[in-house]
Amino acid sequence: MAMIGVNKDGTYATLCALCEKPLTNPIFATSHFIEDRTHELYRFSDAAMHWECYCKWPDQRRFAAMYFESIYAAVATENSSKYWPLLWSAPNAFVRYGLAVNEVSVVLKKSGTDIRVPRKHWLPWLGGEWVKQSRPGLEYEAVLAVLPHLQKLHLPDLKLGPQ
Ligand SMILES: [Zn+2]
Repeated sequence: MAMIGVNKDGTYATLCALCEKPLTNPIFATSHFIEDRTHELYRFSDAAMHWECYCKWPDQRRFAAMYFESIYAAVATENSSKYWPLLWSAPNAFVRYGLAVNEVSVVLKKSGTDIRVPRKHWLPWLGGEWVKQSRPGLEYEAVLAVLPHLQKLHLPDLKLGPQ
């Protein structure tokens, strides 16, 4: 994830990559996923922005789709499929499960976000917590669109200590 500075009083020390004013919650940030330094969106690939600025950004759709594709490409690698098996995928979303951390990862193309839900919070999240926890607009709409599929997922069995 992008390096995001926080002041002693809890406010952000980092500026929004889009409006260049100090960050305030909610925010959007990605890891450094665009390797090509000459890419026009390169400087945004390891940066943070206000969620509101991100939603209004003319490149939002393209950026979100690129981020979505980059995570999906990583899922197919051997290490990732071993530790983060894919539970479900569709053109606009996929779900993987972190076996070591017991965490569900819901990756959404529309919002370009990777929502992490600890296993113990999964059912409450599906049951309505997602409404409060989703960032407004894009993320909320993206979750709403796939919710019926998420509700049908079976999480992998828990491994109970060493065999
Ligand atoms: Zn901003």
